[in-house]
Amino acid sequence: MSKAVVSGLYDSDVFRMACRQFDQAADAINLAEDIRDRTKYPRRCLAVAVPVRRSDGSVTVFEGYRVQHSLSTGPSKGGIRFHESVTLGEVAALAMWMSWKCSLVGLPFGGAKGGVIVNPRDLSLSELEHLSRRYMQELIGFVGPEVDIPAPDVGTNEQIMAWMMDTYSNHVGHVSPAVVTGKPLSLGGSEGRREATGVGVAYLVGKYLADMKVPVGGATVAIQGFGNVGGETAIALSLMGARIIAVSDYTGGIYNPAGIDIKKALAYIRYAGVLKDFDGGEPIGNEQLLELECTVLVPAALERVITKDNAPRLKCRVLAEGANGPTTNEADRIIEARGDIELIPDVLCNSGGVIVSYFEWLQNLQSFYWGRDEVISKLHAILDKAKDSVEYQKRKFSFGRRLAALTLGIGRVAEAKQKRGLFP
Ligand code: GLU
Repeated sequence: MSKAVVSGLYDSDVFRMACRQFDQAADAINLAEDIRDRTKYPRRCLAVAVPVRRSDGSVTVFEGYRVQHSLSTGPSKGGIRFHESVTLGEVAALAMWMSWKCSLVGLPFGGAKGGVIVNPRDLSLSELEHLSRRYMQELIGFVGPEVDIPAPDVGTNEQIMAWMMDTYSNHVGHVSPAVVTGKPLSLGGSEGRREATGVGVAYLVGKYLADMKVPVGGATVAIQGFGNVGGETAIALSLMGARIIAVSDYTGGIYNPAGIDIKKALAYIRYAGVLKDFDGGEPIGNEQLLELECTVLVPAALERVITKDNAPRLKCRVLAEGANGPTTNEADRIIEARGDIELIPDVLCNSGGVIVSYFEWLQNLQSFYWGRDEVISKLHAILDKAKDSVEYQKRKFSFGRRLAALTLGIGRVAEAKQKRGLFP
């Protein structure tokens, strides 16, 4: 028997949600008691105060975190989020999901996540640079190509990764590209990394629609979130012939049943910063968007947007989780009971990002770079294998698809920990 002696350090809705998913998966595969808590709880976390000198000469201190959930199968891996709603509990839940995701798709990484409580839009470019560098500086000793490898997430991008890589490299005294992924191409970034998450979401949506015998050409798509993941998913799915009927960002959404011109919408965002007032369709709220009648619904923003309230009203055939943790435990149960929606769970659906991050890390370590076609075909091969293994697990144990994916991811982490044994 094991019994964790833990405080409420991570306690929050989203951490409890990730723990409930874990408990359900652990029960479903009868995970041995003596390995459960070791597999479930984050290995370690760091909370840092990040002082930034503002353009007006004043100083603002921002709070930041890094949670390393598992270090048993390799360095930990996961993005850094700059968002005003970041909490330690959220970062811990996201780190847990990174562990299951990396394990499910067979990457030699544990899971991690970082975050700073900040709205990056409130900072000037030079304040953003100072924040990114100082946060990385506080993490030195806790990260590294063989320890923990950050990447972009909500509110961070290639430029921020470049500043972080430069800060770390200055510290160690030589260029160390493999310390972060999602870098610009000129600094050792990988071909295909920027669009990898969206390309992966679209590829899997295409595969599941084919299984359902629904042609992508006739499919309609609603996407909540128009950042890197939502934007690239929209581009990839429209290239495959689907009609994107709604997109949204935090300022609201656009609905156009005839199809939104995605190139125009992205160009508008580059110019205006937000989707608000884009004239390519009717305005629509974020809540309304989720309940639109469509073939594919892609939540590609934050956690816990599909809830017990809107789950009964979803009118999609496929729910493709581009975001991490968009569906609450209660909504999961409702969707499963309905039985008319094919769920592509986050740990599978959005794994394209970290898969190409793995390729970027490999290319950095070997200083030998691949072309885009090679990257994308290797990405597809890993996604195919992961999808097949999830479908096999689902059939073999009559699990829902999320449970199938989580039991595979969690089972492998637990097995590695079991085999390594407990030291001392
Ligand atoms: N932030 C992304 C995710 O949630 C990518 C992480 C990475 O590339 O390490 O999967």
